[in-house]
Amino acid sequence: MAESIAVECVLCPGGCRVRVLADRTEGARCRRGEAHARQEATDPRRTVTTTVAVEGSALPVVPVRTSAPVPRDLQAACVREISRLRLRAPLYRGQVVLVDLLGLGVDVVVTRSLPAGRETLLPMSNPASR
Ligand code: SF4
Repeated sequence: MAESIAVECVLCPGGCRVRVLADRTEGARCRRGEAHARQEATDPRRTVTTTVAVEGSALPVVPVRTSAPVPRDLQAACVREISRLRLRAPLYRGQVVLVDLLGLGVDVVVTRSLPAGRETLLPMSNPASR
């Protein structure tokens, strides 16, 4: 690690500016922030969120995310791999649609339920307005 790395903590509105050194951190006002800053300085990770094409539903895509953060420099590769998926409705929130993404030990899960059929997402007409 370089002599010190500056990290702005984003875990709460406090926005502490944390300096991460080889043997300690400075500037964090809580242990959670210290751990977050050290992680950011040594192995930054992000949860990947994107959408995947769906057949058989009123919507053409469904939102998905990784079950855990992945290394930040592999984000683009993860999105490319996820974009190869083709799903079919119905889909359920929390459903795993890809296991062990790129061998990283994280899965890809659906973040909203999507019923099968075109009409299911259309607004229901009010019989009183006819
Ligand atoms: S270090 Fe702690 S108090 Fe400071 S911004 Fe991060 S979470 Fe908030």
